[in-house]
Amino acid sequence: MFMTPGNDFGTYRDAHGNAIEADLSFWATGTTPNTLWLRLAGHGDWLNAAGQVQVDRRLRVQGRADVFAIGDVNDATEQKITPTALAQADLAAYNIRLRLRNSGKHRKEPRLYRPTQRTPVIVPFGSADGLTVLPVPGGDSAVLGARTTVLAKAKT
Ligand SMILES: Cc1cc2nc3c(=O)[nH]c(=O)nc-3n(C[C@H](O)[C@H](O)[C@H](O)COP(=O)(O)OP(=O)(O)OC[C@H]3O[C@@H](n4cnc5c(N)ncnc54)[C@H](O)[C@@H]3O)c2cc1C
Repeated sequence: MFMTPGNDFGTYRDAHGNAIEADLSFWATGTTPNTLWLRLAGHGDWLNAAGQVQVDRRLRVQGRADVFAIGDVNDATEQKITPTALAQADLAAYNIRLRLRNSGKHRKEPRLYRPTQRTPVIVPFGSADGLTVLPVPGGDSAVLGARTTVLAKAKT
């Protein structure tokens, strides 16, 4: 379902162009991390204005060598999706192991996180509809419909 540009959040259109009037709408995209507890615990300086934990390229909380923040909660990337969170988890686990084991002359360098800016976004609408936004070379995106989305995600 798509919002008609410039409307008052009350009129929507489905994939066939039919208008749907809503009595009440909730904007339900994007994520806001639940970091109030950090602020209450006296770590408000870890957070940016959006409430995200600020991390360096090793995914450590800014200014702390022994605290890592991964996934939706940090400010490492705009792409707040599961593959990103998993990639960050792998990298943080590697860096934590390294920190615990690394000593002596032959120290290994911690890995740096490289945000992936362009991944497919697959959004099923139930089991038979949906949208897939696929990055294509040159910086553009291709928008694919129900068939691809169902194949990729909603089959089961
Ligand atoms: C509606 C919706 C649809 C989505 N669809 C997709 C999709 O199709 N594909 C995709 O890749 N991604 C999707 N995402 C994004 C994806 O879910 C997240 O990026 C991913 O779950 C991030 O993982 P995370 O471990 O960082 O956070 P989460 O999975 O949110 O895990 C955080 C955990 O911490 C717990 N927690 C919070 N506060 C506290 C506290 N004070 N104490 C203890 N525990 C606490 C929470 O209960 C939660 O279990 C979607 C997100 C939403 C909201």
